[in-house]
Amino acid sequence: MTDRLYYTDSYLRNFSAAIVDQSPDGRTVYLDRTAFYPTSGGQPFDTGTISGVAVLEVADEDHRIAHHLAASIPTGPVDCAIDWNRRFDHMQQHTGQHLLSAVCTESFALKTVSFHLGAESSTIDLEGPPVDSRIAQECERLANEIVFQNRPVSVHFQHASEVQDLRKPSEREGTLRIVSIDSLDRSACGGTHVLATGEIGPILIRKLEKVRQTTRVEFVCGARAVRRARADYDALLKTAQLFSAPLDEVPAMVATQLEAARAGEKARRKLELDLAAFQGKELYETTAPGDGGVRRVSQRLERGNLEDLRAIAQSFTAQPQAVFVAALNDPPSVLLAVSADAGIDAGKLLKTALQEAGGRGGGNARMAQGSVADRAALERVLAKL
Ligand SMILES: [Zn+2]
Repeated sequence: MTDRLYYTDSYLRNFSAAIVDQSPDGRTVYLDRTAFYPTSGGQPFDTGTISGVAVLEVADEDHRIAHHLAASIPTGPVDCAIDWNRRFDHMQQHTGQHLLSAVCTESFALKTVSFHLGAESSTIDLEGPPVDSRIAQECERLANEIVFQNRPVSVHFQHASEVQDLRKPSEREGTLRIVSIDSLDRSACGGTHVLATGEIGPILIRKLEKVRQTTRVEFVCGARAVRRARADYDALLKTAQLFSAPLDEVPAMVATQLEAARAGEKARRKLELDLAAFQGKELYETTAPGDGGVRRVSQRLERGNLEDLRAIAQSFTAQPQAVFVAALNDPPSVLLAVSADAGIDAGKLLKTALQEAGGRGGGNARMAQGSVADRAALERVLAKL
């Protein structure tokens, strides 16, 4: 049974121990005592070194703790060091979670049903009434107030049968480890925590997300909150510089610009159609009638979008006795438009031509469009038309 040093001292970062068991390859070791926290209760494992070799993962195997190493080490006494930056970050996030969960329960009857401490941010899932941004902001404000009060966070051990007033009843039997925030919260927990709420640092709530019957609340504490606020500021500042606007005016500025861009796009579309109508008419007037008095135009583009030619085709074939064919080399595609009196069903004709060339497409009697696999097939369709 491994003696868990972190149970009584979360601040212990260097310790010596003895190897009591080892995997055959020597890369998994079991110590008589350890300060390495194994993944459990939503908190990830610690990293660091044992005899100078990197600890890659720490796992809880009920009565003992397995340390997975980057290389094998010889058996015997070992000196161990915890990666303190990672551990302290976990202590800030984890204690911040206790505080936030307690405030959510106290003020809004929201029960924390799960906790995840992630690499970038952490989440709690809250059961109870729906959580909107107003409630989240109030929880954030109350939690930070208790941070500023620097209330003691203490750990003590008590037998399960004597324990009362836990925020969340524990199903464990025997001795429970109880983590308390002075005059606020008592939770059964095996994780690592700071000694006073001030050490949690700022608590920042971010995204709210509905997950089944719960609300998932994303949050960051301590150094993470400062890093996140710095990144948010930098992003907002860049945006503000683009608009040459003060930071606080960015949302209104973006909304105005977006509206202007939409109106501009609408006006552009209308002008494009107007222009196409003129171009179609002009093309008609400058095209000499051929056999049977029919004006035929065929346009060929290397690449682009046939959609851009539709309006011209429409305007051209709005005049009597007109046939308009447009083809695109890449991707190989074709458009056929005819006037009402041309005596041709564009949809039927193009469909037949496309089928013979292994392509697909269709349309109505006046306008049709389709595509084929390659240039050779495109030439066959155009020859047919
Ligand atoms: Zn805890």
